[in-house]
Order: sequence, then structure tokens, then C-alpha cells
Amino acid sequence: MKVPMLDLSEQYQELRSEVLEVLDQVMGSSRFILGDNVKKLEEDVAKYSNVAHGIGCGNGSDAIHIALQAMGVGPGDEVITTAFTFFATGGAIARAGAKPVYVDIDPVTFNIDPKKIEAAITEKTKAIIPVHLYGQMADMERIAEIAKKHNLGVVEDAAQAIGAKHNGKSVGELGTAATYSFFPTKNLGAYGDGGMVVTDDADIAEKSRVIRVHGSKPKYYHHVLGYNSRLDELQAAVLNVKFPHLDRWSDLRREKASTYTSLLKEKLGDLVVTPVEKEGNYHVFHQYTLRVENRDELQNYLKEQGVATMVYYPLPLHIQPVFADLGYKEGDLPETEKAAREAISLPMFPELKTEQQEYVVAKIAEFYGK
Ligand SMILES: *Cc1c(COP(=O)(O)O)cnc(C)c1O
Repeated sequence: MKVPMLDLSEQYQELRSEVLEVLDQVMGSSRFILGDNVKKLEEDVAKYSNVAHGIGCGNGSDAIHIALQAMGVGPGDEVITTAFTFFATGGAIARAGAKPVYVDIDPVTFNIDPKKIEAAITEKTKAIIPVHLYGQMADMERIAEIAKKHNLGVVEDAAQAIGAKHNGKSVGELGTAATYSFFPTKNLGAYGDGGMVVTDDADIAEKSRVIRVHGSKPKYYHHVLGYNSRLDELQAAVLNVKFPHLDRWSDLRREKASTYTSLLKEKLGDLVVTPVEKEGNYHVFHQYTLRVENRDELQNYLKEQGVATMVYYPLPLHIQPVFADLGYKEGDLPETEKAAREAISLPMFPELKTEQQEYVVAKIAEFYGK
């Protein structure tokens, strides 16, 4: 049996006729950038996030950068975040001209540990970027409290967590802004790149809209330095077809996750650490991630057996070569570094079959001699 990490083909077959129809409409309309499809998606995703504004942009990385810039973060400022994330989080801070300040994670959720944030705040701190890793929200209530106390902005990096909830609150509700990615592998994926900033703050929304078109307002007059980062109509049209299915897909991901967990517990007991959904959280399982011993050997073994896995992420941002100037060294963020050695993500997508999950777990059990 072969089990891929992600297989988008079944979903495409399901939606094919609808997708082809809307693509044909867009191409027939000759309106390719920032048209009605983008507007509809911005409205729907903002509403879904329980906030007033959505600003479609080129990708999820730019969305973080645009939100930071719109909040006034720039050179000389510090932004607190996690080092256990995709590069884009730290990259966006550095691209805004600010300094990333990395805080260790909560080993249970893999998300930034709110208990460690206050010690990292200085008079230069302007914002916090929690990342809702693997589809589970960080402790936004605590983070929002800290931000309020110290007068900081919060950008939720929700690239992996569209649809997640924390004590009934959506992504975007407790932050100053939140950012989504529509990269094809994300839970709501386009057929190319795309991203969005959502916010309840009218001023940040307006600034974000201007930044994504070179800072142009009125047209051809530039008061701020923006760049080109727009969502195109073809991508938005595809996303509008997919969006109504998102909650169903999240439920399916959750079902697959609970199937993995019960199979793993049954076959391996405590030999592997299964994902923990913290009380009050609605986890959308962008990834199903275990902590294991002998991770690299397990990954190689599974690969030989036809099972794809991924390591998100093998090298934390604080020790990435590009950030050497920040002066971090190995050992500075012990929980982050431990997670980077132990984490392994299993195949996860709404169309994953139970037989495939049984095969994956059987092969993991085989590796550990169970
Ligand atoms: C995917 C991802 C991004 C970047 O999104 P792109 O659309 O690929 O630019 C940012 N942060 C996290 C945590 C991600 O997983």
C-alpha cells in the first residue's frame, strides 16, 4: 500500500465541474485581479472569523508582513514569536525591518508558551505573533491579556488554522489581526498562492489594502511604501467553490485524527505521544503530529513501507543560519529544540481512508516491535 502525505485529487474530482465553470466565468470576464470573486471571499472569510474586514493578498507570508506594516511595526521594533514554525513567520518580521524575538513553546500544544512571553518584552516590543500550529489555536485569551497590559499588537499566524476555535472564539477575534494562507496544501487551499489578512480594526484594514497595491492612494500617489501582493480572481473563484465545504472537511480531519489516536493507543500504548487537544480548543488538524523516539529511523522505515511522513520543522527559526546575527545558540529554547527532534506528522487529509490509517499505524507498531 502507498499512503501519501496529502492527496488533493479526490477533492478535485468532487468539485471539478463547479471549478471549471467558475474558472471559465473569470476568464470570460477578463477581470483577473481584485474583482468580485476576491471581494466575496474577503467578506465570507472575515465573517467566518467574526471580524469586519478581509484583505486578500498574494500569499500567507505577505499577509503577515502586510499586517505588521499596517500596525506600524518597522525598523528598531521587536516582535515576539515562536521559533517552532514555518520560516515565513520569522521571515515576515525581518522583512518588516523588525527583530524577531523567539520564545519557547508549550510542549503539550507546540504553540508559544504564554508564561514565557512577559520576560521577553522590552521597551522596543511592538507586537506578538502566536502561530496556531498544526491547526490548534495558541492560548489567545492569555496572549490578548498580556498584549493589552503592555499595549502590544497581536498578529495571529493562522496559516494552518482556518476554522479553529478557542473557548468559542474564532481565529482573528482576540488578535489585532490574523493571517491566512491559501497555499494548496493548507486546509482551505487554492490552485496556486493566496493569502488574507482579517481584522476588526478599520484603520489596519485600510492600511493593508493600500500596502498590497504599492501604497497607492489615490491611484499613482504613494504616501507609504507598499508592494504588489494581490489575490487574483482565478484563485478567489476556486476558493469560493471550496469555502462552503471547509467545516465538513475540518470535521473529517478531526475524525481521522481520533481514528489515528485510538489505533495508536491500542497498538502502542504510551510508546508514542499523540496530539493533545487542549480543553476549550477546536483543533482543525492541519497536521496530525506525534512525538516519538528515534524519529528519523521511524521516518525512513515508513518511507520504505510506502508511508509518507513529514517533519514540521526540523530546524527551529532561532538557529536558522539566516538569523545567526540575532545571536541565539542551540540550547536557548529547549522545548522548541526537543520538539524539532521528536515531531513527525502522519498523512492527513479529509479523504484519507481508514484502511490507509490502519496500515500507517501497523507499520509504526512494526517499527517499535509491537
Ligand atoms: C504556510 C505557512 C505560512 C506561509 O504561507 P504562504 O501562503 O506559503 O506564504 C506562514 N506561516 C505558517 C505557520 C505556515 O504554515
